[in-house]
Amino acid sequence: MTRAEVTRAQVTRPQVTRAHAITTVGLVHIYRSEGHDVAALSGVDLRVRAGEVVGLLGPSGSGKSTLLALLGGLFRPSAGKIFVGDRELSALTAAELDDFQARDTSLMLQGARRNFVPYLTVRENVEFAQAQARRLGAQVDPVERTLGLVGASDFADSRLGRLSQGQVQMAALAVAMAPSPGVLLADEPTSALDRRAREVIIEALLRINAEQGTTVVVVTHDPEVAARLPRTVTIRDGRIGGEGRSGQEYAVVTADGFVPLPVHLREELPPGTLLRIERVENGYLLAPEVLGHEVLGHEVLGHEASGHEVSGHEPDGATGA
Ligand code: ADP
Ligand code: MG
Repeated sequence: MTRAEVTRAQVTRPQVTRAHAITTVGLVHIYRSEGHDVAALSGVDLRVRAGEVVGLLGPSGSGKSTLLALLGGLFRPSAGKIFVGDRELSALTAAELDDFQARDTSLMLQGARRNFVPYLTVRENVEFAQAQARRLGAQVDPVERTLGLVGASDFADSRLGRLSQGQVQMAALAVAMAPSPGVLLADEPTSALDRRAREVIIEALLRINAEQGTTVVVVTHDPEVAARLPRTVTIRDGRIGGEGRSGQEYAVVTADGFVPLPVHLREELPPGTLLRIERVENGYLLAPEVLGHEVLGHEVLGHEASGHEVSGHEPDGATGA
């Protein structure tokens, strides 16, 4: 056995297991900037069970990083609530929020190098990251265990400049796991990596979850990463646009009863399309009203189909957004 193998054998069972559930209720976030405001999140209701692994997917600009940062308590939402474990984040005082960030949740920022003290080794960075959690009286795993759990033992004594891109990401994971948090939030941890390095990171995330029990939320726009995760949530235009479970895609009914259309149907069913929704034997039928060869939209409705029942029709509903 090499020294690394011995170390790994000794560290297979982390001692500290903590996992928190996450719930968001009507989460809205608006960035206020000079001249114009940007609505990054427009009502996100998300539930993640304690000990679950969830991938956050979605096109660039859809609000993934904003959502992750809010879950990590980096800043406060414009509206809505976030529950992590038994705490509601907006109800925390500044000191309680510091405590929460130091021991309960780890946010791994996009661009791994932002998570380090550059002139320290990987091990020293992990020690440094643990120090605050220890000061607050949190139980944390020994540094060797954390390094072994993540798979960073082999290069623990190297400084950042000597590491490959993949190793830098793993070191960032080790730093994030240093306080033995109940929640690990990772923003695009595999972007800018080749296939093999990406695989190592995915394995590490799944191992952290399996061995430590940590709830893991990982932002990715990489379909290969998404395919390895048991559950994915797709963010679209600041809302939950769908969910995938074991490769099957689902639409998610929002708190106010809207159902987002799957992306591939948006062109076929333009805004204003009238859909008849009926219960049938094995589920529900979604049938567009057709007039001649045209799908009947609400512009046509006033003139040619005034007899139709359209009560409750919402042209600006979530389906068209
Ligand atoms: P993603 O991570 O999915 O690419 P983001 O959460 O980074 O999306 O961004 C969501 C939206 O909010 C985008 O339109 C983006 O331009 C905007 N945005 C993000 N950060 C800021 C900021 N600090 N100030 C103003 N607008 C921002
Ligand atoms: Mg982002």
